[in-house]
Amino acid sequence: MPQPGELVFESPKRGKPPIHFLDLTAAERKKAVSELGLPGFRADQVSKHVFEHLDKRPEDWSDVPLDARTAITQALMPELLEPVRTIECDDGETVKTLWRLHDSSLVESVLMRYPNRVTMCISSQAGCGMNCPFCATGQAGLTRNLSTAEIFGQVLAGAQALARDEIAGGPGRVSNVVFMGMGEPLANYNAVMGAIHRIIDPSPEGLGISARGVTVSTVGLVPRIKQLATEGLPVTLALSLHAPDNELRDTLVPINTRWSVEEVLDALWEYADVSKRRVSIEYALIKDINDQPERARLLAQRCQGQLVHVNLIPLNPTPGSKWTASRKEDERAFVRILENAGVAVTVRDTRGREIDGACGQLAALE
Ligand code: SAH
Repeated sequence: MPQPGELVFESPKRGKPPIHFLDLTAAERKKAVSELGLPGFRADQVSKHVFEHLDKRPEDWSDVPLDARTAITQALMPELLEPVRTIECDDGETVKTLWRLHDSSLVESVLMRYPNRVTMCISSQAGCGMNCPFCATGQAGLTRNLSTAEIFGQVLAGAQALARDEIAGGPGRVSNVVFMGMGEPLANYNAVMGAIHRIIDPSPEGLGISARGVTVSTVGLVPRIKQLATEGLPVTLALSLHAPDNELRDTLVPINTRWSVEEVLDALWEYADVSKRRVSIEYALIKDINDQPERARLLAQRCQGQLVHVNLIPLNPTPGSKWTASRKEDERAFVRILENAGVAVTVRDTRGREIDGACGQLAALE
């Protein structure tokens, strides 16, 4: 039975992409390959090329006969993500890609290289239905859910580029994946779970990236947070709180009218409890809107005694927005109040700002 309000999250089927090898589990790949009249073990061979060797071209699958390569690529590997534009900054260590999907929908992913890790920020939906007024993606509404292959394909493309020494800083690997691009990942639950499995499961199932390096960021769909807690995967959960009181959060994160600050924080603490993982709270600091000392105090009070880390994000103003980032002194005061209350807090670095790094801004330009 759908819960009241659940219909909101159902995306139109229009534009659904064709099934891809990357949508399938290892067992399903075997079955799909057998149905092409090929021996099932060809699926494992191809999986090793895809997930272990990060081979981009079927020509490199030297242990797979040519006719099998052709049959598998034609039936199971349709082109799903076409790069339309890439933009670099930070001397090429931040790379943002705009992808066109088979139905012309546009989504973005960003690769960010740091001295000891590489983080990929990926999209889970084309557009978003959550309608947060400060977010570029929210302005255009939801086009559709992405498939597992479309979501995971963004990570795979980054992993391939790193392996092939195409990113500044030499060959490397993806160590972290954050669902902080376009879309609300928990509103596309099954496809996102599939993508998480391709990311964390060891080869030949997936890339074998540590689950601890994966962060799912949500506006706070409480039933889905509870469901995620039952999966038994040590992924990090980040809640986009942005206000500690219902009156303001109702306007900044409209789904708050369905699940209140109290309900969503209870679900967050429960997730921390069950997963034994520190959870995150994201809080975009917006000048004179949510950056007052009394809001910092209320946030600190709500975080008391919890396994939580608060991530403050200076607002990245969207084109035409009346809102802007907080004054530096207000930001510092906000941080100090949380620190003095013993709450772990950092201000997020603003990597990629000069390439419209924040969610949805490149697609909105196009
Ligand atoms: N739908 C998910 C994930 C997408 S966005 C979520 O809301 O959590 C990832 C983070 O960027 C969220 O915390 C979101 O609120 C924040 N964000 C969106 N637009 C922003 C902007 N213009 N400036 C700063 N942070 C922004």
